Amino acid sequence: MSKLILVWFRKDLRVHDNEVLLEATRKGDAILPVYCFDPRHYGPSEYPAQKTGAIRAQFIVESVHDLKSSLQKLGGDLITVIGKPEEEIPKLVAQYQVSEVYHHREVAWEEKQVSDKVEEALWKQQINLKHFIGHTLYHKEHLPFPIKDIPDVFTNFRKKVERESFVRPCFDLVQAIKVPAAMACAPVPGLADLGYQAPERDERAVWQFKGGETEGLKRMHHYFWEADALRNYKETRNGLLGADYSSKFSPWIALGCLSPREVYWEVKKYESERIANDSTYWLVFELLWRDYFRFMFKKYGNKFFHKTGFKGQELPEAPNQEELFERWKNGQTGVPFIDANMHELNATGFMSNRGRQNVASYLVKDLKVNWTWGAAYFEEKLIDYCPASNWGNWAYVAGVGNDPREDRYFNIAKQAQTYDPKGAYVAYWLDQSETSVLV
Ligand SMILES: Cc1cc2nc3c(=O)[nH]c(=O)nc-3n(C[C@H](O)[C@H](O)[C@H](O)COP(=O)(O)OP(=O)(O)OC[C@H]3O[C@@H](n4cnc5c(N)ncnc54)[C@H](O)[C@@H]3O)c2cc1C
Repeated sequence: MSKLILVWFRKDLRVHDNEVLLEATRKGDAILPVYCFDPRHYGPSEYPAQKTGAIRAQFIVESVHDLKSSLQKLGGDLITVIGKPEEEIPKLVAQYQVSEVYHHREVAWEEKQVSDKVEEALWKQQINLKHFIGHTLYHKEHLPFPIKDIPDVFTNFRKKVERESFVRPCFDLVQAIKVPAAMACAPVPGLADLGYQAPERDERAVWQFKGGETEGLKRMHHYFWEADALRNYKETRNGLLGADYSSKFSPWIALGCLSPREVYWEVKKYESERIANDSTYWLVFELLWRDYFRFMFKKYGNKFFHKTGFKGQELPEAPNQEELFERWKNGQTGVPFIDANMHELNATGFMSNRGRQNVASYLVKDLKVNWTWGAAYFEEKLIDYCPASNWGNWAYVAGVGNDPREDRYFNIAKQAQTYDPKGAYVAYWLDQSETSVLV
């Protein structure tokens, strides 16, 4: 009997550097590529926010379209369904007589719950769910410590990893794909099918993000080779205005349209062909932060979603939190630097790293609002939302996560003075009438 392997695409929406896809084409006589739009991702969350806002929903739909067209170019196709994976995948397994299911393992609690349920349902059909580990720069098996012993301080983790581990080469590109002749593919659902209206594009955005691996690879090519911006990344990365002050790779990396290893090896190429300096090192350093939060999620499970974090620390809360949170969300705190950043987030789904640190700190330390509400709001709005990076960074800023410094405090006035000395960013995002409180 011929072997058909179902490839369950999740946050690995690419054909380059994709071990799951490569292995499935090698081990199977044919593959069945599938993507599920899980309705749980498109409704309300348990916090006062939606799980996914329209801007990210659009980015996801675009990414799935691009994946489908890449698979078609290789002779394959993609089945897309709206439904829970634990219900849809077993149905497809039965319909097509699938022999095995492959997927990339996720680290966050909800995502793990879903694969547990898929695994359970498949067991009943005596079908194996094979897990691959492929979202990080450094492979979990190549770390110099078991997950439970990973230091809670990033610097200690980084130094040992840099000294004792290595980044694997990218996996070969699949050359051709064989799918069942009778594979029935409905069109990719549109935004309306997921319950959204198309978001308006805001011309002020730092970049008009479009989902998909094609656009992600294009952006990387532009940032490294055309704009030649990598050579100055360390000096410009705290910028607020313009397309190239930082890479803007995050939305594609978060959905797996761009592999962090692909970025790493492109940096190495750039270093050998153009220049190797602090900036080229620093981009990899930032990717290591991303790895770190993912490994921390493995270590501490869903403690990252608790108000007290993994440190179990209680934080003070203002009596009128709800009202303060509303003002923060809408960019109406009266502090221009905060409000401008929130306006950018609400209008475009993006905010610089410097902005994120400031608005998060302001919500928790100045307004004394429950940080998990802020994290949940970012989860809804960010185009690059990724559970470990978002909740890990929020817990860090709130002081209940991996920050070794007790009581780190962002002085917003000082930050605005340093990073927006002429007020250009504030003026760009706020009307004159909104800049009355000078910070
Ligand atoms: C409160 C808060 C919430 C955040 N939420 C997210 C999130 O949901 N998704 C997300 O990808 N990033 C998140 N970040 C991290 C960071 O702000 C973004 O990755 C970065 O701003 C994206 O812009 P860039 O691609 O131009 O980054 P660059 O500066 O060009 O960095 C290159 C890549 O490194 C990774 N990276 C950089 N900084 C961090 C960091 N601090 N933590 C983890 N990875 C990092 C990203 O993949 C990024 O694309 C958050 C930071 C804070 C303070």
